[in-house]
Amino acid sequence: MESNKNIVILGAGESGVGAAYLAQQQGYNVFVSDFGAIAEHYKKQLTDWNIRFEEKQHTETEILNAVEVIKSPGIPEKAPIIKKIKENGIPVISEIEFAGRYTNAKIVGITGSNGKTTTTSLTYHILKNAGLNVGLAGNIGKSFAYQVATEKFDIYVLELSSFMLDDMFRFKVDIAVLLNITPDHLDRYDYKMENYAASKFRISQNQTADSYFIYCADDPETVKGMQGRSFAAKLLPFSIEKKVDEGAYLEDNNIIIHIHQQLFKMSINDLALQGKHNIYNSMASGITARVLELRNATIRESMETFHAIEHRLESVAVISGISFINDSKATNVNSTWYALESMTSPVVLILGGVDKGNDYTMLRDLVKQKVKAIVCLGKDNHRIHEAFSDIVEVIVNTHSAQEAAAVSYHLAEKGDTVLLSPACASFDLFKNYEDRGNQFKQAVKEL
Ligand code: ADP
Repeated sequence: MESNKNIVILGAGESGVGAAYLAQQQGYNVFVSDFGAIAEHYKKQLTDWNIRFEEKQHTETEILNAVEVIKSPGIPEKAPIIKKIKENGIPVISEIEFAGRYTNAKIVGITGSNGKTTTTSLTYHILKNAGLNVGLAGNIGKSFAYQVATEKFDIYVLELSSFMLDDMFRFKVDIAVLLNITPDHLDRYDYKMENYAASKFRISQNQTADSYFIYCADDPETVKGMQGRSFAAKLLPFSIEKKVDEGAYLEDNNIIIHIHQQLFKMSINDLALQGKHNIYNSMASGITARVLELRNATIRESMETFHAIEHRLESVAVISGISFINDSKATNVNSTWYALESMTSPVVLILGGVDKGNDYTMLRDLVKQKVKAIVCLGKDNHRIHEAFSDIVEVIVNTHSAQEAAAVSYHLAEKGDTVLLSPACASFDLFKNYEDRGNQFKQAVKEL
């Protein structure tokens, strides 16, 4: 085969394997390389499709022979192989960038530090209910590349992480949503907030006058980042704190969306997703739906019927009048803040895990108001004790989901809520946040 058709894919997860399939379909000579072990089902897929791959190594002679490299978002820029590839002048792109070349579908792209999966899923739910031929991809479900290769959707709703955005250059997002920017993953951005913010703003980089940029006017980092940047798209803000001219705002507990002289109105009490953060998420989804000129009745009905997603403020059970909520996906302090903010009864809070240098100060007010006891679920909990021992009387260490559920049950009374919203990653005791959430749910069911 001609060497100008050599393409290399680094990382054989969902996005890499999908990209490999699409690249092969487009006539490329594909080689997949993963420095770790590849999951069995992905190995089987690659074998079934006759795609060459290697695991637990990177063969440089193969990799440096590529015209282009598609990199998994999980591989950091600083990895030695990426440095070598760049030294050799080989372009590195993301799976989204690659797949975008082979579809003319309209793109809704959603990014932010928190709320991406919720808002992406809610938006997809509304568009699907409205009868659009819509696909759901990005950081969620089947890869975008695989769907581009095998489906014919008119429109996609994509969840875009900053790591994906970093390797996107020409991809155009027709309707972009930036939910918020709060510190996360700073280790990948030289510990500079402006670098992380710049990555998020890449979502708007190829927009034109017929595009839309939807953003949270209450988020200080977003507003700061917008100053000094220019936007070709039409700007549509959403806010809980103030009335905006065009966009979405809150008035007497109603979400008002005002676009193109048309009004949409819905009481926040009718939203399926409760909590202040979900008002923001619903506003962003609602604006997207109105931009696409979907009917108000469809939007309203979809926002009423959407079910919470697993591990995000998910109700697990009510036992002896105590509600158990699984918010295992809250892996940073900001998401735990929103979870606590939405609580309306006294809380036994399960916190802890791998602390990525958390600053717990922002939680203190809400903890003082709402939390009667903290149950630590992590190997090393000393930072949680330090942060809260002066304002919470009972702080208990536990080392398994079963123990945490049992101790919380013991500490809670009828009418209380036991909330697992750890503010930390899960790798010390669990495989990932899903495993943590599942073990918690199982333990609650066995109480
Ligand atoms: P992401 O995909 O960006 O990680 P999710 O939708 O999975 O976000 O939500 C993760 C956690 O963040 C949830 O458990 C919730 O507590 C919190 N959260 C959701 N939406 C927002 C928001 N708009 N602002 C702040 N926190 C949020």
